Amino acid sequence: MKLINIETNMAEFDGLKNQTEFMTYFRNENMMNPQKYFIETWGCQMNEHDSENLSGMFDLMGFIRTDLKENADVVLYNTCAVREKAEMKVFGNLGHLKNLKGRKPDLKIIVSGCMPEEDVTIEKFKKEYKFIDLVIGTHSYQKFPQLLKEAYLNDRTKYDINNKEDIIIEHLPANRDYNVKAFVNIMHGCNNFCTYCIVPYTRGRERSRKPEDIINEINELVNNGVKEVTLLGQNVNSYGRTEKFDVDFADLLELVNNIEGLERIRFMTSHPKDMTFKLIDYVNKLDKVCEFMHIPVQAGSNNLLRRMNRNYTVESYMEKIEYAKKNVKGLTLSTDIIVGFPGETDEDVDSLIDLFNYVKYDNVFTFIYSKRKGTPANDYEDQIDNHIKKERFNKILEVSNNIAKENSLQYMGKTVEVLVEGPSKNTEGVLTGKTRGFKTVNFEGEKDNIGKLVNVEITVCNSFSLFGKIIK
Ligand code: SF4
Repeated sequence: MKLINIETNMAEFDGLKNQTEFMTYFRNENMMNPQKYFIETWGCQMNEHDSENLSGMFDLMGFIRTDLKENADVVLYNTCAVREKAEMKVFGNLGHLKNLKGRKPDLKIIVSGCMPEEDVTIEKFKKEYKFIDLVIGTHSYQKFPQLLKEAYLNDRTKYDINNKEDIIIEHLPANRDYNVKAFVNIMHGCNNFCTYCIVPYTRGRERSRKPEDIINEINELVNNGVKEVTLLGQNVNSYGRTEKFDVDFADLLELVNNIEGLERIRFMTSHPKDMTFKLIDYVNKLDKVCEFMHIPVQAGSNNLLRRMNRNYTVESYMEKIEYAKKNVKGLTLSTDIIVGFPGETDEDVDSLIDLFNYVKYDNVFTFIYSKRKGTPANDYEDQIDNHIKKERFNKILEVSNNIAKENSLQYMGKTVEVLVEGPSKNTEGVLTGKTRGFKTVNFEGEKDNIGKLVNVEITVCNSFSLFGKIIK
């Protein structure tokens, strides 16, 4: 068989420079009768992007993607460890794969992402899930072709986990669905160790990508039709701090703002303790940066914030909110909160509701606290009963929904600028898009509006979406 030299294809993917031999192996194996791969992704946008990279590597190795796991020769689950519920789903799905492998013994099963970074999960895999072929942590993707080959050639599960090298691998291939909008990771990991959160243990310490690598990626996205980017990090406000870059996050926004052809910029997540007044000023000053900020408050009392190790107070949070409301014209806000954190009292919930009534968030993402092994809060003794958590959740939801409705009604009769993302999933002939303030707007219109900025006059206001008619 003629061997394929894929070095030329890989010249631009220098993140894989030690992998040529393994990629060539699969390219040759797949030449006559390509194997099919299936990927399912759980969790955050970081995982989504990792899956794009893993998929890009599969493609480069000559595999063909399938949307049906029953048809696949390799199934990869890219997992999330943040919530217990998502983990239970993965374990359930792995159970089904065991049956599939019973019928197709050559099927290869791979588990990647954050679950492999937890010791307790690995113990479980070793005892109960011996049929998995490869378990790969978030720090090892640049070795994926090599690990895949080892998994193919061995009968026992191959583990590559707990690799604590906190590096950033640039220039991996990516199989990307270019769309109107895209997510761009600007940093990885987290240094904050909030007491409920597993991320610093699974994703490692904080490290930022170089500004030029970020700008190059966004330029490529824009050249492929992307109009809006969301800059992502666990805490974008501390961008470049570990590396002592002379570009901070506000400066990075300015660099991205200069990219021609890009229409809109968003970012998340903003840790309140690191949010600067300079950043708020830049949100107002830079024309492409949308007047929308997601600023997770998590709790409404200093006692809970301290126990969560959030390193800010209600007062310091509110000082920044006040400044932002005063200085960013047309600002809309959203937040995350945790209900039922250990030690939470009725008074804590009341203070949170007072805070809502003042800030008037457009959207509140409410999570019921669930214990995560390996985090400090897991061992707090004053855990809250489930029925109390549920009651408080419902109370908070009612208040936040009422505020969202109140905010929405203010759009009635107004004309808003909408970036059209595509057809509505629910109604034929209806298009959907977002305002700069991140409100969903649906309206009747032709598909050639997709990817364009259009003006829509609002005629119906629901709590979390608006409906209107396009203004020619
Ligand atoms: S800032 Fe806190 S909640 Fe966010 S990823 Fe880091 S540790 Fe987790």
